[in-house]
Amino acid sequence: MAKLVVIINACFECNQRVAQPQSLRKYLVTKHSITIPDRTRAQWHSNNNFTYIKTTTAHDSIEEQLGCPAYLQHYSTVQELKDHYYSDHPGIIPPMHRQQQHRQSTNNDDSEAV
Ligand SMILES: [Zn+2]
Ligand SMILES: [Zn+2]
Repeated sequence: MAKLVVIINACFECNQRVAQPQSLRKYLVTKHSITIPDRTRAQWHSNNNFTYIKTTTAHDSIEEQLGCPAYLQHYSTVQELKDHYYSDHPGIIPPMHRQQQHRQSTNNDDSEAV
């Protein structure tokens, strides 16, 4: 059965929530100097696994997912969202942040070359 999910726009660096994907992009630029590419006008489409709903009311059967403002991708934790940014949008992360990430991570996989 498909899960009921609501897409949350949250900053992957500090977990700050904003109302709109556009606001999140603005927020990331202002606060973290991170520029997210513009998303196409694609919408979330419900599928076999997820039914996307819009609500501001918390409910037990509704799961919150953190959406990427650039891709139609969503994750259940900020850490997963962050991993997605670092692996799928390496160009948008300022060097300062990458070093931080490198310190936290023990994996030596040098994926700088793109
Ligand atoms: Zn933030
Ligand atoms: Zn993304």
